Amino acid sequence: MAAPALEKENQDLKQALANLQERAELSHVVLSKLFDIELSLLACGSLADLLDLLLVRFSASFNLGQIHLVLFDPEYTVRQLLNSASVLDNGQLEFVSTQQPLREIHPENKIRLQHADEQNLELFFPTPSSELRHVALLPLIRHDCLIGSLHLGCRDGSFSSLDPHLLAQYLRHLASVISICFENCISQENLQRLSNIDMLTKVLNRRAFEQELVKEVSRCSRTKQPLGCLFIDLDHFKQINDTHGHQTGDSVLRKVGLALKEHLRSTDIIARYGGEEFAVLLPGCDECCAEKMAQTLCQVVAELSFTADDTTELRITTSIGVASEAPQPSSKAINSLAHRLINAADRALYQAKRSGRNRYCLASRLD
Ligand code: GH3
Ligand code: MG
Ligand code: MG
Repeated sequence: MAAPALEKENQDLKQALANLQERAELSHVVLSKLFDIELSLLACGSLADLLDLLLVRFSASFNLGQIHLVLFDPEYTVRQLLNSASVLDNGQLEFVSTQQPLREIHPENKIRLQHADEQNLELFFPTPSSELRHVALLPLIRHDCLIGSLHLGCRDGSFSSLDPHLLAQYLRHLASVISICFENCISQENLQRLSNIDMLTKVLNRRAFEQELVKEVSRCSRTKQPLGCLFIDLDHFKQINDTHGHQTGDSVLRKVGLALKEHLRSTDIIARYGGEEFAVLLPGCDECCAEKMAQTLCQVVAELSFTADDTTELRITTSIGVASEAPQPSSKAINSLAHRLINAADRALYQAKRSGRNRYCLASRLD
């Protein structure tokens, strides 16, 4: 072969080698980032963190054009769990109550990688961006059941340095890790939620209330805000059970719990403290504000009507003990102040009962 031809071949080979090397280095960078994401997923301690990692950080790390997550949530469990968490809602998260929409996206339960222009993108993204070049559709599966679908809208360069086979293999693995993480976070948080909830009325139970009380007393002492407390006891409730049966009594408790909760602010805390007793914390409420709330709640309960099994219309009234205190910033006193506040509201309730029921009484002072 002539020397110039050899030289040209040599240069081409060098160029090809340099290209391969560059590609290998880029692949290495992408794979390392994918492994980092995987470790972060496994370390996620909460559902809100998991969603933030997937929908915000994962997307930023790979310069994704869009990301969309569909979760199967037939009993509203995830939505209830996320209610209290501050999850960014910008349309990236969607819930479905049946599996049909997931089966339509994943008829074979397999990962799908395709050019963005081959597909009707509206099926995968509510408002598809024109920058998308490829779409990766990851089925999230646990115990042979589709629990969700993660849609990655890739721009040029998101994963393009990776060999498509390797990418598909890795994304399959990632989808399994994400599925396990969702299942773990959801069941752990749901268990925690259920252990704090009174199953009859669906408000907090007494154990959760005691925890919230200590938190609120210390928060109010830090922010120098008053903390109001109401102790609410239904009047002559035993008669309802005795006359109309426990089932009717239960439905009265449920309806009262719901009505009380509906009339409180989202920052207030309500719990079923005992049989037919509810306790309420009103952060930021001084005596005057707590009294107004007690008056409203007395009226709300008195206006409720219930239907017993024998179709009789029932009414019930309630007595409320009111206390409020501006906690001092002394951490040592927090536990004892919490109990003094509860005791004061309890004593005021007793006074309301003795004064004729269907009323509220304000605790004269905490001692
Ligand atoms: P007062 O006006 O003095 O508060 O009278 P009361 O009848 O409301 O109070 P009492 O303490 O005498 O009775 C409370 C009743 O609440 C007795 C108990 O059987 C009933 N109770 C407690 N928990 C439940 C429950 O979960 N469901 C039903 N149906 N009844 C309950
Ligand atoms: Mg009672
Ligand atoms: Mg009672």
